[in-house]
Amino acid sequence: MIAVGNIESLPVRSDLVGLKPYGAPHLNVPVQLNVNENAYPLPDVVVDSMRTAVDDHFAGLNRYPDREFTALREHLVTYLNGVNERAGDTVELDPSMIWAANGSNEVLSHIVQAFGGPGRTVLGFTPSYSMHPLITTGTGAEWQHVERKDDFTLDADTVAAEVARANPDIVFLCTPNNPTGTSIGLDVIEAAYDNCSGIVIVDEAYAEFSRPAKSSAMTLLEGRPRLVVSRTMSKAFACAGLRLGYAIAAPELIDVLRLVRLPYHLSEITQVLACTALEHAEVLLGNVDRLIDSRNRMSAHLAEAGFTVHDSDSNFVLFGNIASPADLWQKLLDRGVLIRDIGIANHARVNAGTEEETEAFLSAIDEILAGSP
Ligand code: PMP
Repeated sequence: MIAVGNIESLPVRSDLVGLKPYGAPHLNVPVQLNVNENAYPLPDVVVDSMRTAVDDHFAGLNRYPDREFTALREHLVTYLNGVNERAGDTVELDPSMIWAANGSNEVLSHIVQAFGGPGRTVLGFTPSYSMHPLITTGTGAEWQHVERKDDFTLDADTVAAEVARANPDIVFLCTPNNPTGTSIGLDVIEAAYDNCSGIVIVDEAYAEFSRPAKSSAMTLLEGRPRLVVSRTMSKAFACAGLRLGYAIAAPELIDVLRLVRLPYHLSEITQVLACTALEHAEVLLGNVDRLIDSRNRMSAHLAEAGFTVHDSDSNFVLFGNIASPADLWQKLLDRGVLIRDIGIANHARVNAGTEEETEAFLSAIDEILAGSP
């Protein structure tokens, strides 16, 4: 990883001095279970469609892409209306309620640029996704956090009280939460919304992995113009390399994001590939159940082996009762398995792999517990 060294010699903003960049190690090892990707490659049928779809767009690359990503918005609406309908929810979205950017990191960054910034405060419930504070401080806003209980759950009363106390300009809620896997009920989101006058961001990056399927915060959008839901194609959709995240909110909120995005931020190729992926939503999401099986297998095995395992609604598992997470991380790496030491004392996180990867991880764990170096 490239470190940020000796930046004091540069006229860098004082509020950035001492911060650490996003730091998941990018190592080329056989079993990579550290950044919550979808372990399965794209099926041939999707790859073939993508190839054909981009082919028609090469000659037109002399032109800027559609700044309003009109076709992509429509594809996202079709997908999301289907999701809500299958969940029995009556919410009806339209393209004016959709935003998209290069990964949900960029979506979140647009929202915080527009509603955070110098002199403003952003509240989160930690441990949660490490980019929420980094995106916040990047805009010059102040990050405040409330520690979750020992079991990492969050209830409506706690959230209501903390949000009312802090009265932040933005609240981050993440469900299922990274790195703990914990889901929250819609009542927790309502509690946050009702107790501040700021923007409530619900980061639902892992929503498609919840079983049974939970109603999305999208179902609360009616009459809540300060609520915004963020999602991604990086996880369940198996398109992390594509870089496509999106948000759903009232048209007024979406409109504001136009003020902070860079012109033509979504390339023609990104838009075409994302539309093609959405046309194949069912195929791409076809491995979600297999990943959930792997996750459940990991949880059961780790619990049996004596680790504390936190209930997960996503494609990863947080497990504790580890004497030294750094030592476990290294021993697994020595066996070709990369997991994540997320900096929570005595805990580590592993994401569900293919059946073979899951087997490799669990065998490596057994070997380490049996005392081999
Ligand atoms: N939100 C959460 C909770 C995440 O875990 C991640 C990725 N690890 C993201 C957002 C960002 O994902 P992407 O930019 O790939 O959409």
